[in-house]
Amino acid sequence: MAHINQNFLKLPGGYLFPEIGRRVRAFSTQTPPMPLIRLGIGDVTQPLAPAVVDAMVKASKEMGVKETFRGYCEETCCAYDFLRFAIRDDYRARGVDIADDEIFVSDGAKSDCGNIGDIFSADNVVAVCDPVYPVYVDTNAMAGRAGDYDGEKWSNLIYLPCTAENGFFPDLPADRVPDLIYICSPNNPTGAAATKEQLKVWVDYANAHGSIILFDSAYEAFISEEGVPHSIFEVEGAQTCAIEFRSFSKSAGFTGNRCAYTVIPKALEREGASLNALWNRRQGTKFNGVPYVIQRAAQAALSPEGRVQTQLAIDYYMNNAKVIREGLTAAGLTVYGGVNAPYLWVKTPNDAPSWDFFDTLLKKACVVTTPGAGFGPSGEGYIRVTAFGDADATKEAVRRIVSVLE
Ligand SMILES: *Cc1c(COP(=O)(O)O)cnc(C)c1O
Repeated sequence: MAHINQNFLKLPGGYLFPEIGRRVRAFSTQTPPMPLIRLGIGDVTQPLAPAVVDAMVKASKEMGVKETFRGYCEETCCAYDFLRFAIRDDYRARGVDIADDEIFVSDGAKSDCGNIGDIFSADNVVAVCDPVYPVYVDTNAMAGRAGDYDGEKWSNLIYLPCTAENGFFPDLPADRVPDLIYICSPNNPTGAAATKEQLKVWVDYANAHGSIILFDSAYEAFISEEGVPHSIFEVEGAQTCAIEFRSFSKSAGFTGNRCAYTVIPKALEREGASLNALWNRRQGTKFNGVPYVIQRAAQAALSPEGRVQTQLAIDYYMNNAKVIREGLTAAGLTVYGGVNAPYLWVKTPNDAPSWDFFDTLLKKACVVTTPGAGFGPSGEGYIRVTAFGDADATKEAVRRIVSVLE
């Protein structure tokens, strides 16, 4: 008889978004007084940039001609030089020297964040921020690193609270030393972005203890403030303790196109092994690369023309963020984020539980948000509002929320 991976049975049944869906459906069947506006899920809504579409059309046509047809990609790390070099140059423009064979192109930062666990032993101690992007927690639970779930927390994970008191950036753990540390900046869900000084504390800690920082910078393109690092490799010492995940999903609207990359410096070694070599071995065995057409699309997103165009979509979302931040703040709410990230982290009025405020906004304003408690215990008392919606709908949503609060 085949035995299953028992760790899967310990996973809570995908609670957050299914529960939101259930409540929204239940409400929708009672003929809501106004059309629903969805500011809950973190997906982009603006179309691809024209330069990206042109590159996809051109590459598709090449695939239909014998002389320019491509099969499996045989270049370094399953990615074409044209894309790896464009990514390398993007880092160089920010003063970060990454070699092209330290860049692994993939179909998503979500898959890479999960798959990276393959190269680490099952007995590593894992630290996550609280609130957290659930992928880090669930993938470690599947691998047997999380222990048991008690309805709120996993027994073997170290939870690092990110609260208004610490500026939504984790303090160093007090007792147990983690081997693997997930940091997401700019952050989903809180919208906070770490400074170089804040990251330096963790880089020094990781180097001192031999820990590895798994740094998710999927939202780096949304940073608007000067001096906020776009990459952990802007911090001295990160080359010997960090792996960075990035994606075209949010920066260039590729959530349906699928293209991302992971950077593993060759200087990163543990127990005498190069993590770059281990990941190369892992990807070479379990992955055959991103479609040629999509790699051309990603290259176009990094071209001068593509950058101007993708920036327009980012500006559009960040203008929504400003509308939400200013509108809700004027109505008396305490609002965080929305400056260097497309997420607003909103304190519930009178310390109402997240799900209660979620229900109030759903039923009285017909606006769908995400309850902060769904991202971890420290998310209780907050809701997440995304700036990825339509601009007019976002303005209308803010007007409705403000009138509910009056
Ligand atoms: C959206 C998102 C990603 C991107 O995932 P893809 O698989 O590349 O689409 C990564 N990390 C976080 C925290 C995200 O919110």
